[in-house]
Amino acid sequence: MIIVMKPGSTEESLSRVKEKIERAGLSYHLSVGENRTIVGVIGDKKVISSLEENMSALDGVEKAVRITEKYKLVSREFHPEPTVIDVRGFKIGGEELAIMAGPCAVESMEQLREAAAEVKKGGAQFLRGGAFKPRTSPYDFQGLAEEGLKMLREVGDEFDLRVVTEIVDLNDVELISKYADVLQIGARNMQNFRLLQAVGHGTKPVLLKRGLSATISEWLNAAEYVMSAGNENVMLCERGIRTYETFTRNTLDLSAVAAVKELSHLPIIVDPSHGTGRWQMVQPMARAAVAAGADGLIIEVHPHPEVALSDGDQSLTPKNFRATMDEVRKIAAIMGRK
Ligand code: PEP
Ligand code: MN
Repeated sequence: MIIVMKPGSTEESLSRVKEKIERAGLSYHLSVGENRTIVGVIGDKKVISSLEENMSALDGVEKAVRITEKYKLVSREFHPEPTVIDVRGFKIGGEELAIMAGPCAVESMEQLREAAAEVKKGGAQFLRGGAFKPRTSPYDFQGLAEEGLKMLREVGDEFDLRVVTEIVDLNDVELISKYADVLQIGARNMQNFRLLQAVGHGTKPVLLKRGLSATISEWLNAAEYVMSAGNENVMLCERGIRTYETFTRNTLDLSAVAAVKELSHLPIIVDPSHGTGRWQMVQPMARAAVAAGADGLIIEVHPHPEVALSDGDQSLTPKNFRATMDEVRKIAAIMGRK
């Protein structure tokens, strides 16, 4: 249930509302907007329903509304203002589009440095790169592990880029947090609930990718796992879903951008690389994502895609990345963003 306070209602009436919630053994989450305060009530469903009528009658309360969806902290009803996540001074969900770019996997210092120099030139603020790779086959390159993390940090610092990298093991939160600025939860781990809770107990911003076959509701519930464990710095990432189509690796669901904006206050990033699996389609889908209202893009860029150890087919060359960014900037301007 959410309790919407009347505009200009007093501190005293808010205190009475909080008191009633606590006395019923429930907890709350406050969202203080410019002219309205919303109290989100969390806890046992039955207790909440029994409280509902009581609440609407309280002084200063405009209305009490039941929420049918299970996710609460994630929902826009709970938190009408869009969330902006500050990652070392860059505001994800703010006016400027977040551009995260780099290779699928960290392969070597030379490769990473070349990629970083190029994505920086193209206007990225974040360097992406996997050190722990959740590959479909156990015989494929699995990543450089901590060596790769060290390279990401060093090269990130060298080019003044924030670092985004994937976490696959719940015991690695501390290790990866030492090197990275954003922890990526991959599509294959979207419903790894222990992992979601582990990153939720930390404070590092989380990029939560949509599962291969996850509905929007399942995805938002996964985000709720992270937020309910205490970490409110969550951004979502649409990266394509499994459909009957085989021409593309996945079907990029750009309607998810509009859905997330309607249902949630969390920023949404689009990954046109995994979303299509084909470098030829990354540029048009990047443009479309920004037109649809995405808060940022995560794009695979490799200095030499033909020799990439993973995802070469969907990686942009530096030249194509720059061309993509030139076009994205034009769309961003139309959308009132930088
Ligand atoms: C990746 O970003 O390289 C990756 C493995 O993505 P996803 O989890 O979306 O497949
Ligand atoms: Mn990849």
